[in-house]
Amino acid sequence: MSKILIVEDEEAIADLEKDYLELSGFKVAVANDGETGLEKALTEDYDMFILDLMLPGVDGFEICRKIRDVKNTPIIMVSAKKDDIDKIRGLGLGADDYMTKPFSPSELVARVKAHLARYDRLTGSAAEVNKVIEIRGLKIDTTARRVWVNGEERAFTTKEFDLLTFLASHPNHVYTKEELFREIWDMESIGDIATVTVHIKKIREKVEMDTSNPQYIETIWGVGYRFRV
Ligand code: CA
Repeated sequence: MSKILIVEDEEAIADLEKDYLELSGFKVAVANDGETGLEKALTEDYDMFILDLMLPGVDGFEICRKIRDVKNTPIIMVSAKKDDIDKIRGLGLGADDYMTKPFSPSELVARVKAHLARYDRLTGSAAEVNKVIEIRGLKIDTTARRVWVNGEERAFTTKEFDLLTFLASHPNHVYTKEELFREIWDMESIGDIATVTVHIKKIREKVEMDTSNPQYIETIWGVGYRFRV
């Protein structure tokens, strides 16, 4: 569950923001002055900060700047004055978004969700799993670019890996050598399509039990190759 820190001295506004965010499934902490907010922001773990600009003690500018010195966590800055928003934008403090009060709580929730999703994509959230292709005894981790045959890892060159992965990602599809060459090698490169044959041979030596009777990459005589499932 994502944890959000609201730094806001107007308690009614802080409460309203907190209620809406909690209803949307977020865990919310509130600090009502700048010092407390800054301390919490730097010493505790949050997924997002919502900072009011005008605060007693340390203001939102300062908190934003200090957070950015050490963290990339998304920051939404809020202010009652449109002019101030323009000013903060101009300062380039590294805030991700700006909202002018009053705003609708549902607008705030929508923006919080959008920024959290964007941050997750940038950092690769914990929920992201490697894309793995598993066919019989062959396992290809396309994210980590690793291959196992019956549980034993095999080393592949870049092009061998790309070719194997391309074929395995399009099972039962017959490709000509020309098509495979265009797909895996640089279109602009002056290449010999015999290089495809050479790579297929090397891949078979690594994945097939019996290269004269291939179980994975099948030769379609006179046409090309297909990955069998
Ligand atoms: Ca304020």
